[in-house]
Amino acid sequence: MIAGFERTLVIGMGRSGRASVQVLRDEGAQVWATDENPIADLAALGVTFVAPAEIDSILAELDAAVLSPGIPLNSALVRRVQSARVPVYSEIEVAYRLCKAPIVALTGTKGKTTTTALVGHIFRTAGRTTLVGGNIGNALIDEAVRAKAEDWVVAEVSSFQLESIRSFKPKVSALINISPDHLDRYFSMDEYAEAKFRIFANQNAGDTFVGNLDDERIAVLAEGEGAERIKCRALWFSREPHRMSTLYQRNGAKIVYAPPTGDPRPVDILDVAEIPLRGAHNVDNVMAATLIALAAGVERAAIREAVRTFAALPHRLTQVAEIDGVTYVDDSKATNPGSVIAALRTFEDGKIVLIAGGKAKGTDFSEFGRVASSRTRAVIVIGEAAQEMSAVIKRAKVSFADSMEAAVEQASEFAKRGDIVLLSPGCASFDMFASAEARGDAFVAAVQRLQRGAEAVH
Ligand code: ADP
Repeated sequence: MIAGFERTLVIGMGRSGRASVQVLRDEGAQVWATDENPIADLAALGVTFVAPAEIDSILAELDAAVLSPGIPLNSALVRRVQSARVPVYSEIEVAYRLCKAPIVALTGTKGKTTTTALVGHIFRTAGRTTLVGGNIGNALIDEAVRAKAEDWVVAEVSSFQLESIRSFKPKVSALINISPDHLDRYFSMDEYAEAKFRIFANQNAGDTFVGNLDDERIAVLAEGEGAERIKCRALWFSREPHRMSTLYQRNGAKIVYAPPTGDPRPVDILDVAEIPLRGAHNVDNVMAATLIALAAGVERAAIREAVRTFAALPHRLTQVAEIDGVTYVDDSKATNPGSVIAALRTFEDGKIVLIAGGKAKGTDFSEFGRVASSRTRAVIVIGEAAQEMSAVIKRAKVSFADSMEAAVEQASEFAKRGDIVLLSPGCASFDMFASAEARGDAFVAAVQRLQRGAEAVH
C-alpha cells in the first residue's frame, strides 16, 4: 500500500489513468474512477465509476486523487476535488513513490521521445537493465512498479505531469529545450517554463540536473539567481565550447566531454558524422542523452556504440519514398512551430515543399513564417490553422488542401527533381486525425498512392 493513497480517485481514464487504477488496486487501495465518458469495464477491476456530476458524493472519503495529464489543473472538476482538501497528484508522483530503481527523467518541448529512447538504448548497450516509460507511450507507473533496485528507469515527462508532483525526485533530470507550445493551456511562456523547471525542484545532493545552455529560457538557470534554484550538481551542454559546458561540439565535428571533476582534459566522445539521425536538433538530442548517460556513470565506449546504432523513431523526419527524384519525408510529430523550424533547417534552402497545418495551440507563427518564407519553394496548408499559417508566408507559394491526399498531390506538382516534400505540420492533429501517428500514416498512404501512379506511367 502506498501511504497517502489508501482511498484514491483517478481522474481521466486514458492510458495513464487506467494504469494508475490497475497499480493502485494491485497495491490494495480502494479506487474510484471518473471520466467525461462512462467507462463500463471498471467493475471487474474492483473500481467504482463516478460520473463527474456526482463527484461530491465521494470527496469526503478520499485521501488523494491522481490526475490524467490530459485534464488541466484549473478544470472545474479538479477545482472541486481540491476545494474538498483532497491533494491532486500526477501519475508520475505515484510512480516515483513506488519505484525502487533510480529514475532518469527528461523533459523539454521537443525531442523528448527521441532523447528518452536514446538514453534507454545507451543504458541497455552499457548492460543495464532499463525500463523506459512516461510520455513515450507506456505509463511510467507500469514500469516503476516492476523495476528492481538495481535497474534503471528512464522517464519522459511532460509539463502537464510535472505540474502535479510533490516529491518526484529523479537521480538525473534533464531539460533539453523550451519553445512556444501548449499556450492554449498555459497563460504565458513563463508559466510553461516554470512547469518544466519542476523537474529539478526536489533534487539535492547526490542528484544531477542536465541543461541545454543554448536555450535562453534554460540558460537563466546557469548563473546568478537562477542557479540558486538548483540544489544539485548542474551539468550543461552547448553547440560551441563554453566555460560552463561539460559537453560541447568542437568545430561542429566532434562531441567533446570536459570532465567536471578529476582530470579536466577534454576527451572526444564521438564524431558528429557518426550520428545516424538528421539535423542539428538531433545533435542536440544526442548531446543531451550523452551527458545524461555520463552523469549516470555510463562508459564512453557504450555511449558511442549506442548512438551509432540508434534508429530514428517513426514520424520524426522519416524518409518515406523517392518518386521521380523527389524525396518524401514524414515529420508528423512536429506539433509546434519550433519543430518545423528545426526540420526546415535540416534540408537545403529553397528545395522544400512543406505541408503544414492542423489544430493550432495558441502559439505565434511569425518565426515559422520567416523561416518557411525563406527556405521553402511552396507551402501547402491544411486543417484549422491553414488560414493563419498562410498569412505569415511571404515569398513562397501557398496553396490550400482539404485532405492529406490532396496536399500530397499538390506538393508533388510544386516539387522539382532534388526537392524534399516535407510533412511537418507545426500543429496538433486532432482537427483531421485521431493522432499525429494517424496523420503520418495518412501521409505515407498518400505518398504510396502517388508512387503506384508514377510506376504505372513509367
Ligand atoms: P517530443 O517527444 O518532445 O514531441 P520527439 O522526439 O517525438 O519529441 O520529436 C517530435 C518532433 O520534434 C519531430 O518531428 C522532430 O523532428 C522534432 N524535434 C526533435 N528533436 C528536436 C529538438 N531538439 N528541437 C526541435 N525540434 C525537435
